[in-house]
Amino acid sequence: MDNNQRLLQTTTDTGSLRPAELEVVYAISRMVAETIDIEESLDRIIRLARTVLIFDNVVLYLQSEHSSDPKDTLEPTFARAVGRGRSSVEEMVWGEKAAFEVYESGRIFIKEADSINDDEDRLSQHFYLGLPMLVSGEIIGALIFIRFGGPNFDKDQINLAEFIAAHVSQLLSHKQLVERIANLEAERRLVKLQDDFIAAVSHELNTPLGFIKGYTTTLLRDDTKWDDKTRNEFLQIIDEESDRLSELIGNLLDSSRLQSGNLHMDIQEQDIRSFLGSVVNRLRSHYEKLDITVKAPNPEERLKADTKRLNQVLDNLINNAAKYAPQSKPRIQFKANKKRLRISIEDEGPGISDEHLDSIFKRFYRVPENSTGVRGSGLGLFICEQIVQEHDGKIYAESKLGEGTTFHVEIPLLPLKTPKEETES
Ligand code: ATP
Ligand code: MG
Repeated sequence: MDNNQRLLQTTTDTGSLRPAELEVVYAISRMVAETIDIEESLDRIIRLARTVLIFDNVVLYLQSEHSSDPKDTLEPTFARAVGRGRSSVEEMVWGEKAAFEVYESGRIFIKEADSINDDEDRLSQHFYLGLPMLVSGEIIGALIFIRFGGPNFDKDQINLAEFIAAHVSQLLSHKQLVERIANLEAERRLVKLQDDFIAAVSHELNTPLGFIKGYTTTLLRDDTKWDDKTRNEFLQIIDEESDRLSELIGNLLDSSRLQSGNLHMDIQEQDIRSFLGSVVNRLRSHYEKLDITVKAPNPEERLKADTKRLNQVLDNLINNAAKYAPQSKPRIQFKANKKRLRISIEDEGPGISDEHLDSIFKRFYRVPENSTGVRGSGLGLFICEQIVQEHDGKIYAESKLGEGTTFHVEIPLLPLKTPKEETES
């Protein structure tokens, strides 16, 4: 260490501050206490500090969270040039050296210019003041003030800089605390989500399994003879419950694949005529009680779609209408304009109140009033939304209590090719 470099023990004593300086220190401390946005607060602290402390550049070096190489342990995290400064490589190198000195010693570091010579370009003479950043008693970085062309940092200015540094440290510890709380909260939510998931899944799987086991055991009893009609009824229940079980497992698998981004989609570009042809024909053959209308003025329009997955979406919406609005005959309308194809499924059922309308697309969410006595796991609409989003589309519901619900699915159409593009392709 040469003569121009000093390491000082840190002390902070407000007694030596002048009234204007004290005011700035208090303004900074109020801000630190109220702060939420760290970057913005640092910016404001530096602007305030500049009114009472002369410096041209300031750099905050913090421990890198990721690096294992000791040479990379400090990273410049925040830097502002507020004065005559222009950043040169030399300044950066010296700033880093000063930061390492502070980081390793835990003390204030001062580097003065080798000589203060009025004949020389004053701006080429650099003065550094480095202060430790302490959080919970541990050093986590350094705050470096840089002056071009002096004067030296005197005792009072060092004391003032210490106050500013102490507040920046406090800001950082505040930030660490906020992050720790956020992490804990996220962890807690994840554990709760996993618990809820397991509880919901076990319950859902147990119900059909219970029926299957119960009726099979009954049929296998050798102390009772069942007539053909009863046996058939029991087998019918076992058959339906097996279907329900396999549908449920399919939904669970889809939903966890969607969650992890592993659901395979087979999205193909096709014209709207062939898309609607296959979808509408399928609906006609699958559902007797369905009123279907199609309005697609230009059958040449094209879209990108995984037809099988969109059929799955429509199946869930139609099944929901059948389950929750059993008295009404659901209507399904396909309507295209130049930009999008909109598919609407309308029923005249109990409706969904506004308080639940945004939540029905969440995993496992069921509307309590509508779901008593109706079986379901609250996965259908979650899966629908994910599939529609994979098509860059959207799904939403409009509903009036006591009047009915309409679900809309919108899929964007591709821009039509101009005749020139047509001949080129
Ligand atoms: P799953 O589809 O997984 O078998 P589910 O039908 O309960 O179970 P979703 O399809 O996600 O799950 O629907 C979520 C909830 O939204 C339903 O439980 C029901 O309360 C409400 N809901 C859905 N469609 C309608 C509708 N057409 N009318 C009234 N309520 C509806
Ligand atoms: Mg459903």
